[in-house]
Amino acid sequence: MNSPFVDIHTHNAKTDDDLIQIVNLDLNQSCPEQGYYSYGIHPWKLDEADFQLEETFALLKERLQSPNALALGEAGLDKMHKDCFEQQIAVFERQIELSEALQKPMILHDVKSHNEIIALRKKHKAKQPWILHGFNGTEQDVKQIIGQGLYLSVGESVLHSERKIAKSLKKIPLELLFLETDMAEIDIETVYEAAAKLLEMDINALRAQIFSNFAKLF
Ligand SMILES: [Zn+2]
Repeated sequence: MNSPFVDIHTHNAKTDDDLIQIVNLDLNQSCPEQGYYSYGIHPWKLDEADFQLEETFALLKERLQSPNALALGEAGLDKMHKDCFEQQIAVFERQIELSEALQKPMILHDVKSHNEIIALRKKHKAKQPWILHGFNGTEQDVKQIIGQGLYLSVGESVLHSERKIAKSLKKIPLELLFLETDMAEIDIETVYEAAAKLLEMDINALRAQIFSNFAKLF
């Protein structure tokens, strides 16, 4: 029997016996009793004119009480949204503390912010696993990130040979790797197939490895 596929971060809920997903939900959606979910304060949220920090944070705490809310995310930092970067750091730090208090791993949105993320992980002595989602970095980025308690999740970038990840995927230790569909209208199976090809590895072995990574964290 093959291990189920694991889609570690998606915005599209699907029902399939052969598939485990962590579906990212909006804070105004309550947590269903079936399936696995994540809730977080995305750095882009801070750009919204009507963003209310205390209210949002209270709701986040409440949503994460559900046993089916497996992870806190997306949280993180995005340097392309420079204007609110200081505030992004403050909100991220509060989410780090919440993740530690509730002992739920984090799924992170990281745009040009590895340095800050790693520094904040050290500053807070965070023990919970963090998964950098949508990773498409170079071999150099992989080296910098691994060994810091961070996992890397790779998505539809693996379908494009010109992306950085096509060269760097092999450098990610298999026990730190996850795959995802995120917003893309594709099946996780397609991502697995492309990743297995780049890794020159049997797809069933990849399924077993990623399922074991999931079981270790959740
Ligand atoms: Zn996403």
